[in-house]
Amino acid sequence: MNESKPRCLRCLLSEIDPDKYYSTVIEYINSIDTEHKVNEEIYKSRLEICRLCDMLSDGMCILCGCFVEVRAIKKIGNCPHIPHKW
Ligand code: SF4
Repeated sequence: MNESKPRCLRCLLSEIDPDKYYSTVIEYINSIDTEHKVNEEIYKSRLEICRLCDMLSDGMCILCGCFVEVRAIKKIGNCPHIPHKW
């Protein structure tokens, strides 16, 4: 029998431990195959653009609702702003 605590599938952000939430996002990023990720240079440049963007709120892009650190790591990811900022 699995004795680990069941994962809540319907938590609101306000109910989630922010540190755990962040580590879950990082775990997800780390789980993405390298072949699907942009290189470090591109990743950093994308995030720097996000950091300076008015659409960034608490790590999330308010245009698409994605965590920018997740969206920016993916080769298929792009900025939802029209025109695209990256
Ligand atoms: S993804 Fe684009 S619109 Fe969203 S925060 Fe980053 S630069 Fe801004």
